[in-house]
Amino acid sequence: MSEYGGDGGALDEDLRVPACERCPALVESRSRIVDGVGPTDADLLFVGEGPGATEDEEGEPFVGRSGDVLDEALRDAGLARADVRITNCVRCRPPDNRDPTTEELVNCRGHLESEIDRLDPELIVTLGKVPSEHLLDRSVAITGESGDVVDARLAGASRRVLLSVHPAATLYDRSQRDGFFETIGRAAELSGVGDRGEGGGDGQSRLGEF
Ligand code: SF4
Repeated sequence: MSEYGGDGGALDEDLRVPACERCPALVESRSRIVDGVGPTDADLLFVGEGPGATEDEEGEPFVGRSGDVLDEALRDAGLARADVRITNCVRCRPPDNRDPTTEELVNCRGHLESEIDRLDPELIVTLGKVPSEHLLDRSVAITGESGDVVDARLAGASRRVLLSVHPAATLYDRSQRDGFFETIGRAAELSGVGDRGEGGGDGQSRLGEF
């Protein structure tokens, strides 16, 4: 748990990004800054790329169709969204759904590192190629490396990172669905969060519902 203590709710305000304007193009395209959600003492942290249209509209990471897939995989792993923290590499929506630029990722890095430092999670899960490459500082073949666990130095400490495809990949390519669910199940086991280790989700029960 965090060196700052375990009172996640009371500390949530501290992790809100205040009126940041470091990325001119994103300031132009965003409706709002989309902060991370979930307990600030969570042992499991999911990191995505950045807000899309629905996230920008609703002010929460991973809502809409991708969020539905993530929620379903979390439930299958015996987890609730409220058990984990979910955040992004950049907090503001890039225009036309483009990837964030290297400069934008660097601009927002401090916000992400503050969040990692505060949580001090047991496990970080990168959702997609962009956050995987950003946190590992190397190129990543995400389809092949999804499910791998590596160590990375983040926010001043060595952190365990589990790589995953983005949940949207399962919408475009249904063959990635089983692997994504297995990776989220592995995240539950490695982090010790949820009931996976106590006879919880079987990893397959909901796969046919989407
Ligand atoms: S993406 Fe991050 S660094 Fe850029 S303007 Fe938004 S909050 Fe600031």
